[in-house]
Amino acid sequence: MTETIGFIGLGRMGEPMAGHFLAAGHRLIVCDLRDEAVAALVDRGATPARSPAAVASEAETIIVSLPTPDIVKDVALGPNGIVAGGRARNFIDLSTSGPDMAREIAAGLGARGIGFVDSPVSGGVAGARAGTLAVMVACPDELFTEFGPLLGAIGTVFHVGTEAGLGQTMKLANNLLTASAMALSAEAMVMGTKAGLDPQIMLDVINAGSGRNSATQDKFPRAILPRSFDFGFATGLMQKDVSLYVQVARSLGVPIDVAGAVETIWRKTAAEFGSESDFTSIVRGIEPRAGVEVKPRTKPKS
Ligand code: NAD
Repeated sequence: MTETIGFIGLGRMGEPMAGHFLAAGHRLIVCDLRDEAVAALVDRGATPARSPAAVASEAETIIVSLPTPDIVKDVALGPNGIVAGGRARNFIDLSTSGPDMAREIAAGLGARGIGFVDSPVSGGVAGARAGTLAVMVACPDELFTEFGPLLGAIGTVFHVGTEAGLGQTMKLANNLLTASAMALSAEAMVMGTKAGLDPQIMLDVINAGSGRNSATQDKFPRAILPRSFDFGFATGLMQKDVSLYVQVARSLGVPIDVAGAVETIWRKTAAEFGSESDFTSIVRGIEPRAGVEVKPRTKPKS
């Protein structure tokens, strides 16, 4: 069924995801602080709106992909948020905003009769473009029946629970692993390179062996060995995810021996290279301290 959907937050993830909803035939009302992001979707047939409230005066279903929990809260519940729009019936949050914020927003929207679908995603910009994300939905069964098929346009949809926050909890567990794999792979690759191994050969071996992970299979070959450092995920967002994980684990009384160390290195990377830097910059923080660069000496395998 085609319907009018509002989409707010047309960034690295939002722009390609919004494109899939357009391609599926839905009418899209779009909003972003960046005019050029709105213009790109308007060129493809979307209708622009100046504020979240304006989006919600036209669309019953509003999807967001926004950077931080506070921004999601403001867009949902703020004075110019979707609650001020009149037509909003359901709000789907694809952002990583943490379980506490998901529960707070669900309660705030629920008080206005608006349903909340907690629905963070994993798979990066490449997954968003290809429509192959893992979509971690937590909402009541009736909302899942209504919106599960719609979300199928951006990837594989998992109903991980009925309570708001469980999708976020799932996402934080996933991203702790992404963040840890990246941090540890960076240290191991710098160590091997300094000891005299060729980084390309290291990746070939690791990816054929038991050390393989999303950093060695994807991030190092695509953005670190070519020295482009442009994978498409901001250091500040990675740090946000790990810090949210640490908060949740602490509140549950779960040890954070390793997660705490991972949080420290992401904080350091954000302080050194800035929140907006690509998260593959973590390698550039370790390299000068070791006095070596992770550069291939042989051509990558085609
Ligand atoms: P991004 O910074 O590229 O995009 C965010 C967009 O939101 C920007 O276009 C920005 O202008 C817009 N925006 C900010 N405040 C706004 C407001 N008040 N009103 C309207 N628009 C506003 O971020 P991203 O990488 O696309 O990530 C978006 C969310 O998805 C984050 O929560 C992130 O943690 C999560 N995520 C990102 C990735 C990834 O690989 N990039 C993967 C999975 C999940």
